[in-house]
Amino acid sequence: MKVHEYQAKEIFKRFGIQTPKEKMCRTVEEVVEASKEIGIPCVIKAQVMVGGRGKAGGIKIAKNDTEVVEYAEAILGMDIKGISVKKVLVSEAVDIGSEAYLGIIVDRTEKKTVVMACKEGGVEIEEIARKKPEAIYKVYADSLLGLLPYKAREIGLFLYDDPKVAFECASIAAKLYTLFINLDSSLAEINPLVWDKSGRLIALDAKINFDDNGLFRHPDVEGMRDRESEDENELNAREKDLSYVRLTGNIGCVVNGAGLAMATMDLVKHFGGEPANFLDIGGSSSPEKVMNALEILLRDRNVKVIFFNIFGGITRCDDVANGILEAKKKLSIKQPIVARLTGTNEDKAMEILKEAGLIFANSMDDGAKKAIELLK
Ligand code: GDP
Ligand code: MN
Repeated sequence: MKVHEYQAKEIFKRFGIQTPKEKMCRTVEEVVEASKEIGIPCVIKAQVMVGGRGKAGGIKIAKNDTEVVEYAEAILGMDIKGISVKKVLVSEAVDIGSEAYLGIIVDRTEKKTVVMACKEGGVEIEEIARKKPEAIYKVYADSLLGLLPYKAREIGLFLYDDPKVAFECASIAAKLYTLFINLDSSLAEINPLVWDKSGRLIALDAKINFDDNGLFRHPDVEGMRDRESEDENELNAREKDLSYVRLTGNIGCVVNGAGLAMATMDLVKHFGGEPANFLDIGGSSSPEKVMNALEILLRDRNVKVIFFNIFGGITRCDDVANGILEAKKKLSIKQPIVARLTGTNEDKAMEILKEAGLIFANSMDDGAKKAIELLK
């Protein structure tokens, strides 16, 4: 789960990380009111959970009353990458001395939490990682002992020459680490971390992602969920107990089990196709679940072919077959369906689907290839 910048900053404050004076607003009037409280110049920032807000015109520094109104009107309701801006953050304009990057993620290869720092802040870290990986300094936290103080100081001393600032930065790194662990976060990022002209070390932007599997331990975080800005299909899928992630391709995949779903997407890509989604219908599927899955999948207009890859174990192939049959009737599916159904009750499934006009595949490879072939 992701949260907005203003929410992430509320959490930062709770953990003692300094943020600019700011206020979340939903209307132009609220922005005008907030600008009086915070002072002019102030920064007006679109609250959307996508990158590149700045470039899209979603961040503006207002230098007088007229600009406050002008920018508030322009940003509220603005469309950024398909998302309409409903909230803005009015923030104290900080006099920037230097901008740095400080972030924490899990390094899957090392099986450890890694703290990353970079002297070039404000820009996308993914871009630096691609072009100039040596500019990113990494320290690993010990899985039992946490981020040891000397490691935190290493980060501070890498970013800042002035020892006072470096130690202040080490303390921020330690706080960010505590936040990351305590809240079952999967990413915690300050970009930019600003050393301002008055000598403060301050988080000008904040990003926190949470591990969905840990959310039950953090009802306050769950309470921050912004239903309006989540993908409606993904939300719908979660309610129906399906794991769905929308992608950009045109082959809609329906699979049982997350591992098999990943493998199916890999295979589609391997043979030159593009999956439209990740969709795991789960272990024990009923016809109804298959029906729900297809309903969600078909809302994506890019889907041109549907590929069922079912390995029947607890999942029974005849259940899935009945679901397909029912969905075909109720949803009037026009896209061709490639089906690889193997395992428990596969014979019954074949019997059920015999007249349904599906294209059958006898292996995953075969299925992926047939799905791609159909696009031509
Ligand atoms: P992002 O582009 O969505 O990551 O938004 P950020 O909050 O990181 O802001 C992007 C950039 O805008 C920062 O790196 C700064 O250069 C600039 N910026 C944001 N807030 C302020 C501010 O208060 N004062 C000044 N001078 N620049 C700011
Ligand atoms: Mn940023």
